[in-house]
Amino acid sequence: VRLFIKPLERLVRFNEQFQKGMAGFRRFNELLNIDPEIQDKPDAKELEDITGQIYYNDVTFGYDHHSKVLSDIDIEIDAGQTVAFVGPSGAGKSTLCRLLPRFYEIDSGEILIDGESIENFTLNSLRGNIGTVQQDVFLFNGTVEDNIAYGSLDAKEEEIIAAAKKANAHQFILDLENGYNTNIGERGVKLSGGQKQRISIARTFLKDPAILILDEATSSLDNKSEKIIQESLRRLAEDRTTLVIAHRLSTVKNADEIIVLTEDGIAERGCHEKLIQQSDSMYKQLYQREFSEQLVS
Ligand code: ADP
Ligand code: MG
Repeated sequence: VRLFIKPLERLVRFNEQFQKGMAGFRRFNELLNIDPEIQDKPDAKELEDITGQIYYNDVTFGYDHHSKVLSDIDIEIDAGQTVAFVGPSGAGKSTLCRLLPRFYEIDSGEILIDGESIENFTLNSLRGNIGTVQQDVFLFNGTVEDNIAYGSLDAKEEEIIAAAKKANAHQFILDLENGYNTNIGERGVKLSGGQKQRISIARTFLKDPAILILDEATSSLDNKSEKIIQESLRRLAEDRTTLVIAHRLSTVKNADEIIVLTEDGIAERGCHEKLIQQSDSMYKQLYQREFSEQLVS
């Protein structure tokens, strides 16, 4: 049985999906809160062959005019490095990451990739260079194969399989009734949270972006799936500039820089060793709390 379809057929199939009203796609955009007013500048250029260096220069942003979620944020991330964000819910960690693919327009300051403002790039090429794995996985009503190839429509069969293997997804996909051709999503088979997350990780491996955003990617999973997924996420982050938001500090320990974000802005920053040595650091308190919880459980 030939379960894979050719890239051209996939394009046709995607096109049909769009024609049918794109319910899934639209909801995905709503999930991300994409602002339709954000568009390419007339002279926008392609973001190509990037190293993935990121610079938030004095960035201020609020969802409305009354209140600022982020004020005067400065962050520099060298190509290939990992920055981790920790801090209370509502501090603005997800918001900060969503500004990079330009889902929202910042109020002041600038965000640069490889030294150039993200506003100068086409949205397509900008977002094509950024992969996101988040807690809510977006799967649409289609086959496993189509879901992995979302964002890389010209992918070849062997590339899709290779991506699924790297995401620890290949084996469970083969065990589904029609393998890669199994229908999932709204009207398809139900996958577990961990399986869905592995599909989205496979999708990101296939997309192969220089920049990666991991937003609480494992927070809704049980311990066993979390371990499997942590492992593939570590592989995914290799050689990519990575912004990671994690509820577990054990997963951010190895980051090149850890930023503790609160509603008042960046409260602490530095590597694990530095933050843990400061006797009164919030980071240390968070870390000790997590450590004691682990001893109990
Ligand atoms: P975190 O990821 O640190 O939990 P968020 O970035 O999700 O924080 O949220 C920061 C603040 O922005 C919160 O007060 C939240 O209610 C608000 N917020 C988040 N998303 C939106 C949105 N789409 N529209 C309006 N306010 C939002
Ligand atoms: Mg968040």
